[in-house]
Amino acid sequence: MVKPKTEEEIGLLRENAIIVSKTLAEVGKWVAPGVTTAKLNEVAETFIRDNGAIPSFLGFEGFPAATCMSVNDVVVHGFPSDYVLKEGDIVSADIGTLYKGYNGDSAYTFPVGEVNAETRKLLDVTKASLYKGIEAAVAGARTGDIGHAVQSYVESFGFSVVRELEGHGLGKEMHEAPGVPNFGKRGHGARLAEGVVICIEPMVNAGGRGVYLARNGWAVHTADHRKSAHFELTVVVRHGKAEQLSTFDYIESTDNS
Ligand code: MG
Ligand code: MG
Repeated sequence: MVKPKTEEEIGLLRENAIIVSKTLAEVGKWVAPGVTTAKLNEVAETFIRDNGAIPSFLGFEGFPAATCMSVNDVVVHGFPSDYVLKEGDIVSADIGTLYKGYNGDSAYTFPVGEVNAETRKLLDVTKASLYKGIEAAVAGARTGDIGHAVQSYVESFGFSVVRELEGHGLGKEMHEAPGVPNFGKRGHGARLAEGVVICIEPMVNAGGRGVYLARNGWAVHTADHRKSAHFELTVVVRHGKAEQLSTFDYIESTDNS
């Protein structure tokens, strides 16, 4: 059984989640053709620090930047760089904070300018699969119920779920128990009690599910080099319906979805 958080801890995780959510929206305001992913990283890092938080990814196991910026066929853990975004690209921003001793962690994949219909579908299905996962994150359920909800939804559209990486518990540590896979069987995996805080984060490939690790030891690419999307939110497991701590509302109210 995974230990639930106290309501006091959940309050601190909520404060982090709001900072992360607002940071993603700041990044979204800058996403456009001609902008580098290093600039997006700078915008995020400045906003996080201006809000009194620390970018928790910086230096985590040696990660060299404040955020992960993963373009097109990069699934996750891309380094911000001087790559110049172009029309039709997608960029996944994954952002973490450390504030008052607790963590925030959420991600959003932004279209750059106009994207083609298949790419739009990939973004829509990946985000919707996250909400399917959240619907399954109720007290008494198991992590396999979440994975099954995500996987069955994604695969019904002919897309595939990355299996090498997964969601996780969140608290004083960025990655806590339980692991939350994006695939699985109903009724399997760790049981979720009221008050358990988890990040659900489907990584969905337009093509096959295969991935490989880049030579830099971080960036995870799709094996077929087709695009991959990643959306992540933090939720509290509750009876009947999970409570969302982070939100995409700040992004989507500014017309950057
Ligand atoms: Mg993340
Ligand atoms: Mg995460």
